[in-house]
Amino acid sequence: MKDSNFLKEHNGRLMWHPMTSPQDSVEQPPKIITGSSGVSVTDIDGHSVVDAVGGLWNVNLGYSCQPVKDAITSQLDRLPYYSTFRGTSNDAAIELSYELNAFFAPDGMSRAFFTSGGSDSVETGLRLARQYHKLRGEAGRTKFLSLKKGYHGTHMGGASVNGNANFRTAYEPLLPGCYHIPAPYTYRNPFNETDPAKLAQLCVQALEDEIAFQGAGTIAAMIMEPILGAGGVIPPHESFAPMVQEVCNRNGILLISDEVITGYGRTGAWSGARLWGIQPDMMCTAKAITNGYFPFGALMLGHRMVEVFEDNPSARIGHGYTYSGHPVGAAAALACLAETKRLNVVDNAAARGTQLYEGCLALQKKHDIIGDVRGGHGLMTAMEMVADRATKTPIDAAIASAVQDVAYQNGAMVRVSGPNLLLSPPLVLTEDDANTILTAIDAGLAAI
Ligand SMILES: *Cc1c(COP(=O)(O)O)cnc(C)c1O
Repeated sequence: MKDSNFLKEHNGRLMWHPMTSPQDSVEQPPKIITGSSGVSVTDIDGHSVVDAVGGLWNVNLGYSCQPVKDAITSQLDRLPYYSTFRGTSNDAAIELSYELNAFFAPDGMSRAFFTSGGSDSVETGLRLARQYHKLRGEAGRTKFLSLKKGYHGTHMGGASVNGNANFRTAYEPLLPGCYHIPAPYTYRNPFNETDPAKLAQLCVQALEDEIAFQGAGTIAAMIMEPILGAGGVIPPHESFAPMVQEVCNRNGILLISDEVITGYGRTGAWSGARLWGIQPDMMCTAKAITNGYFPFGALMLGHRMVEVFEDNPSARIGHGYTYSGHPVGAAAALACLAETKRLNVVDNAAARGTQLYEGCLALQKKHDIIGDVRGGHGLMTAMEMVADRATKTPIDAAIASAVQDVAYQNGAMVRVSGPNLLLSPPLVLTEDDANTILTAIDAGLAAI
């Protein structure tokens, strides 16, 4: 490693960082993380904090997960790469497809298509949805529906179904034929509805209206996160996802569950689909699939997809990535899945999730700046900060980032995105770790 003066001097200048401006990276140089242990990371000055962000919603088993590290190194020694394009395969990818099909069988999944990350899994799902309808002789079904506030990665297809202008405006024109339904966001919604069950019905009605307006025969798929993640951790009422599924089924529209965050236990259930008791047609997964140690993803496919593609000799999949089924990623995912099941991380995610959520509610009583606290389903929690509780005026970005900085000085890495303070720590968090996070946020809120 270069010395710290070199790294600090060049920090923020020579590489463009995602989700910020090049100028901002220079004016507010990013924290340089150089080490890790358990659920903590250490920066270049030796300051260690509990990582309440969990990498980026992905380091579910923490930074010291030896079985995943060993799987990566031994796979690198044996077979560092081989493709799964037509004509070849590799043993790790085959074994992983077997394990994942078993893991997601309760969600109705029975095939895997491997990718190199979440955006790839989304892109693959959108493409295969169109192909599915073409194979069935309904070539007119090309449009996509999604939720406002949804996040589906940053490829052109994903950006088109994203429901946040930040990821869209600068890149327009995006894919034509993408329409957005109001999100079941109780704190702010166009209906001024504060009852989550009633709001769920209103949003589903809006979905029905949009389908009727577009014509069901023009729509290929609806893509949706079981709990909106990057958009600010927005869990819908439990009736919402089953109602969406029913509407999609009734209208011949495929349902794609974007489980890039909710897959593999984060919500306190093994998947978001299982949390809500739905069976989607496809599930996009990535992030925690390798505990963040290797870029990898999997799109899981249910029976409708399987029947149409496998019964049709002309169903050639003209899509794939050089790293689809990468053996090192597959080996990492196999070890990660085994460890995830061995530790039964869902139980701890649920218990620590409740602790964090209740802790955040207690902080809301103490600090007026917290307008809304959302969570209650595993280790996905958000606090929405406001300048004024009565008017719900969003907080100034500089104040939000000050909260983050003081929390960091007090022992926790938290993430601020817009007005939201997002918490997505590793699922192996202890009770003490959760308390450290809450105390650090308390200090951050008190300081401003
Ligand atoms: C992170 C995320 C993606 C994109 O995944 P990348 O690995 O960043 O490409 C897609 N969908 C959801 C729900 C995500 O949270």
